[in-house]
Amino acid sequence: DLLVVGSANADLVTVVERRPAAGETVLGSDLVVHPGGKGANQAVAAARLGARTALLARVGNDGHGRLLLDSMRDAGVDTVGVLVGGAPTGVALITVDPSGDNSIVVSPGANGRLSPEDIRAAGSLFQAARVVSAQLEIPLESVVEVVRNLSPEGRFVLNPSPPRPLPREVLAACDPLIVNEHEARVIAGADAELGDSPEDWAKTLLALGPRSVVITLGAEGALIAVRAGERVRVPSVPVEAVDTTGAGDAFTAALAWRLGAGESLAQAAGYAARVGAAAVTRPGAQDSFPTSQEVEALCCA
Ligand code: ADP
Repeated sequence: DLLVVGSANADLVTVVERRPAAGETVLGSDLVVHPGGKGANQAVAAARLGARTALLARVGNDGHGRLLLDSMRDAGVDTVGVLVGGAPTGVALITVDPSGDNSIVVSPGANGRLSPEDIRAAGSLFQAARVVSAQLEIPLESVVEVVRNLSPEGRFVLNPSPPRPLPREVLAACDPLIVNEHEARVIAGADAELGDSPEDWAKTLLALGPRSVVITLGAEGALIAVRAGERVRVPSVPVEAVDTTGAGDAFTAALAWRLGAGESLAQAAGYAARVGAAAVTRPGAQDSFPTSQEVEALCCA
């Protein structure tokens, strides 16, 4: 089974002619509410592929929380680990201008209250999980607690987004650490010389302790690197990209699931690249995540 530990947000989107200045009011288009947050996105992506997936997260006792729980259950996610209350559901307030540029305010709300005690209390979910996948939209001390609660066979996958420097204890547990270029730079630290090529970035990151590293490269695919020295480029699948939102979440979820099914990192990353490619062919985040049949169809088209 796959356990995702992370955030769940309601994304509130309105399109404006131009952004309001201080003290100004502008009118926006009808509000659209999407389920989001990297934790919920990963859980939904994995469940849609057919993975047995549970989410450990926190939402508010409010309408947004119920909307998120409904969307997760519709996708087949086990929500027994989704805690309710303590603060309003996390929200992303998103204004989109006519050129498609976003301005986003995130109110973490209940995501910020997913505490180390909450993690410890979820012991049975950790026992059942072959792979545990996390991101950084919850408190860092809770991510540390995730690492401490892994079962002996449990494998830890981390996409450190939004990125921040990480304690050695967390880095050492990652197998793999999954980053794009921006995340790689922040994790390596402002003073670090990351190098020019993704191979160099991987080397720098491996020196920080993770057992393996996956660098996602958008339309260029990905690079996998393990401590022992293996470096493998994973080609991307050529597709017509419509909206890359959620591609990283879909990629990470697919990779974590395939690792749990016993595939090698190279095999799992190859599958994940197809899932990421499928996700960019449709708009939105959760709406864009493919079923396994759609992934198969993509490969053979
Ligand atoms: P993030 O959103 O975290 O920056 P990426 O944009 O690198 O992540 O996307 C994750 C993965 O999804 C990539 O490694 C690649 O396999 C796939 N992907 C993303 N964009 C494209 C694209 N335009 N064409 C094909 N595959 C893509």
